Amino acid sequence: MIKVVGVIGAGVMGIGVSHSLAQAGFQVKLIDVTEAALDKAKEEIYNNVRMQAFFDKTVTPDLPELVLSRIAFSTDYGILHDADFVIENATEKWEIKKDIYPVLDEICPSHCVFAVNTSCISITRIGSLTQRADRILGMHFMNPVPLKPMVEAIRGHYTTEETIKTARELLKQMDKECIVVNDMPGFVSNRVLMLTINEAIFLVQDQVATAEEVDTLFKTCFGHKSGPLETGDLIGLDTILYSIEALYEAYNDSKYRPCPLLKKMVSAGQLGRKSGQGFFDYQVS
Ligand code: NAD
Repeated sequence: MIKVVGVIGAGVMGIGVSHSLAQAGFQVKLIDVTEAALDKAKEEIYNNVRMQAFFDKTVTPDLPELVLSRIAFSTDYGILHDADFVIENATEKWEIKKDIYPVLDEICPSHCVFAVNTSCISITRIGSLTQRADRILGMHFMNPVPLKPMVEAIRGHYTTEETIKTARELLKQMDKECIVVNDMPGFVSNRVLMLTINEAIFLVQDQVATAEEVDTLFKTCFGHKSGPLETGDLIGLDTILYSIEALYEAYNDSKYRPCPLLKKMVSAGQLGRKSGQGFFDYQVS
């Protein structure tokens, strides 16, 4: 039975995953490399649970405190010694993720399952960093995590059915379901989505249309709830760049070349919602 869940990375996804797990009753241990990231995460989780009350009448006034009381915030991987399940949401860079798994493999109990919340990186490649490739799977959560009922689960080359079953049970308790797909970089959703967002950025760069016009066409003509540039801002333009670079590296196919405007915006710190400016402007909390 899963009781203790480790969450690695307290960014956009780690915040949403920790919130959903704690609300579902799990004991959560959230790890990041800086205290500043953890302090920000604590504040955001509190505010996000409070905001839920506006559209979910079952939210009681004590829920924000209750959710926070179930999360331990730490920079020390050592506290994961009793984790039954770990969901890793660190930055979308192989150079960063590759150093995390041998450490987790050393610290976590042998029964512990590792779930990689990655946009594009191969689960089989990550599994090869550990002695438990059979107990690793991809769990590609959608953003914002507390509001999205579906997860794209990825079966690595050695992932067992038992591991998939354990992940399904965890998701069920979080009120979520998954569709299980096979492992190739980008899986289903991001092999399509990252190309779409990158191409939409080329349209703005080439002055074919403004960001507003591109998104309005997608929303009004195709019935999409959100346009590709608004979606890029929500995901984080740095994460989009790292994802498209990971796809380029994995397939050696020029269709995954990142748009120069995307690179320029990331260098300028225009990362979308999380920095307050991307293709559109936002208020940062
Ligand atoms: P983010 O940049 O918002 O957060 C990443 C966090 O990881 C940062 O707080 C950083 O300090 C932390 N980190 C870096 N190295 C670490 C380490 N060694 N140990 C612990 N923490 C470390 O990124 P994000 O948007 O939360 O994305 C996280 C992962 O989830 C990525 O792999 C991304 O591709 C994937 N993902 C993102 C989205 C999205 O919409 N943003 C959706 C699905 C999946």
